Amino acid sequence: MTITYSFVNQKGGVGKTTTAVNLGAYLAEAGMRVLLVDLDPQTNATACLGVSGVETGTYEVLLGRASAKESILHNSQLRLSLLPSSPALAGARVELIELPNREHRIRHALEQIDGHYDYVLIDCPPSLGLLTVNGLVAARNGIIIPMQCEYLALEGLTQLMSTLDHARALLNPGLSIRGLIMTMYDGRTNLSKDVVEEVRRHFPEKIFETIIPRTVRLAEAPSHGIPISAYSPKSTGGLAYQMLAEEILKGDNMKRRLEPTQIEGNHES
Ligand code: ATP
Ligand code: MG
Repeated sequence: MTITYSFVNQKGGVGKTTTAVNLGAYLAEAGMRVLLVDLDPQTNATACLGVSGVETGTYEVLLGRASAKESILHNSQLRLSLLPSSPALAGARVELIELPNREHRIRHALEQIDGHYDYVLIDCPPSLGLLTVNGLVAARNGIIIPMQCEYLALEGLTQLMSTLDHARALLNPGLSIRGLIMTMYDGRTNLSKDVVEEVRRHFPEKIFETIIPRTVRLAEAPSHGIPISAYSPKSTGGLAYQMLAEEILKGDNMKRRLEPTQIEGNHES
């Protein structure tokens, strides 16, 4: 059985991609077979893994021009698979409108590789348009909502919740929230603490225990085309994403299969 989560928040820059990529890397390190799906025309998740010049990716898969299986790239060093995206995906939002089952296309494409992976993690764009709706329909085990520890973090959540209700009623009755992950926490400010408290008050059962700190290492890793697990595993950001992976494995009743490999030459923060 494959566990599929989508990373959703229509707010931009809250840590959707950072969380999908780095959580995926640590789940892979725990011996899970992980597929990261880039459903964003910005191609950030693809770039975070050092991939560019994509020929077939989520655009072709959505339009039925290629299968997921033939479009997946595998990074054997990270033991992480990627269904990449390309800027052409921006056009899919218009082209999809004409097509049957337009909201179900990624779900159907991924059903063909069901069981090949333990985890499929879908990185959605910052909007509630058709690409994100495809992500909501494909999220068979729920969505993960990254939230930045900033003023007005909860703003926009009402709109997201009503989109989820709508998707649940019409498209995916099993759609659930797997959890809210607080990102870019700055322990030096009261604001960060207050925001976490406020979100915890509203969603006591949904907020992950792990909190992701704001750290420059997490922002640097993408420019090297590698996740934090390879770039700086002992940094506070690396340790936080490792903890998040452990928390998710535990919640999902999944047992780690291998001891994590020690990566040499890491950067301390
Ligand atoms: P978009 O909505 O545009 O897809 P996003 O929600 O996927 O954005 P990210 O791309 O993950 O957000 O993060 C936004 C920016 O913040 C990136 O430059 C990223 O490197 C940086 N960033 C993310 N998390 C952290 C963190 N914990 N500490 C420091 N920088 C971070
Ligand atoms: Mg992103």
